[in-house]
Amino acid sequence: MDSFDDLLSRAAAAPLALSHEELVRILSPADEAERAALHAAAYGVKLRVSGPRVFLRGLVEIGNVCAKNCFYCGLRRDNTAVHRYVIPEADVVRMARWAFERRYGSVVLQSGEIEGAAHAESVARIVRAIRAFGGEDFAIVLSLGEQTEEVYRLWREAGAVRYLLRIETSSPSLYATLHPADHSWTRRRDCLRALGRLGYQVGSGVMIGLPGQTADDLAADIEFFRDENIHMIGMGPFLPHSQTPLGAVCVDPARQLALGLDMVAATRLFLHDRNLAATTVLQSLAPDGRERALKAGANVVMPNVTDTAYRRDYRLYENKPCLEETSDQCRGCLERRIASIGETIAWGEPGTSPHYLAKRAAAQRP
Ligand code: SAH
Ligand code: SF4
Repeated sequence: MDSFDDLLSRAAAAPLALSHEELVRILSPADEAERAALHAAAYGVKLRVSGPRVFLRGLVEIGNVCAKNCFYCGLRRDNTAVHRYVIPEADVVRMARWAFERRYGSVVLQSGEIEGAAHAESVARIVRAIRAFGGEDFAIVLSLGEQTEEVYRLWREAGAVRYLLRIETSSPSLYATLHPADHSWTRRRDCLRALGRLGYQVGSGVMIGLPGQTADDLAADIEFFRDENIHMIGMGPFLPHSQTPLGAVCVDPARQLALGLDMVAATRLFLHDRNLAATTVLQSLAPDGRERALKAGANVVMPNVTDTAYRRDYRLYENKPCLEETSDQCRGCLERRIASIGETIAWGEPGTSPHYLAKRAAAQRP
């Protein structure tokens, strides 16, 4: 196999240029010098495809009621210690408008998973109301779990243009160790395909540093994003939550952070033109975790714009940062942090993934 540096140069020169074994190799830097070289090479690709700019998506955590029971997540149905909330529709619209008026290019509505007509209609009303003031250039993004194709269609027709649904891991056998038997990896994968058919820009992602997960699995995750034509990728290290079945798992925070950053860098180097998020969970592992992800190839940040009163009840994992901050404080803090690494915020730009635009242009060519 080529040297580590040669692999990085080849990967930076063209997308999809590494074999599975070579991806595993770059995901396993032998020392801090190799790690720094990996991140720097990925940063070079990001500068080329996206510039020294960061796209913002304002995140509204619209409710924490969840019908599912994922073994890792603090919002799981069986966690009776959570105070459950659903934000009234008008307040969700107000928070989205706050993001719009401050020139965030898009808004993400996220919640636990709820199925049923009443919920579907409620979300559709919210999407229509946001679309009415935001127009086409304010991208409405949903992250509301697995739904039927009809519900995804309803929301698409209401005006949602993007959907985030993490596959969590591309390995069905690893997925089975993290979920009860009635949670289906295949259904989740099929949801991603349905979203693509409906014309959504599709986002997915995985957790990193899961018990039993190997570098081989992580390389396969990146290949999954390639094979399933994923436009936006959000990945973060797994962090145990004490009120869950995986709460007693021991993780080394430094290792989780390093793995998370390496995964961002390897994904940028292999896929080049997807949007890649610097996720909040990295910030909970290190105060500058998100900036380090931006320097390793990420180009998207999702600042929380949920009213402070709700934030402490939306804990997927423990030690979530910014629970006491207001949206204004988060905005100021983020601006300073992004300036500190010499990048600027792409105010008012929806930040459509270059991969999606290229695919659309190719489809329209005669
Ligand atoms: N209910 C929706 C969206 C909210 S959960 C869904 O599941 O798709 C959003 C993401 O949080 C999940 O996809 C998962 O990857 C992440 N998450 C949940 N618990 C976590 C934990 N303990 N550590 C790290 N990430 C976690
Ligand atoms: Fe519910 Fe999503 Fe948490 Fe699973 S990860 S328990 S679906 S909120």
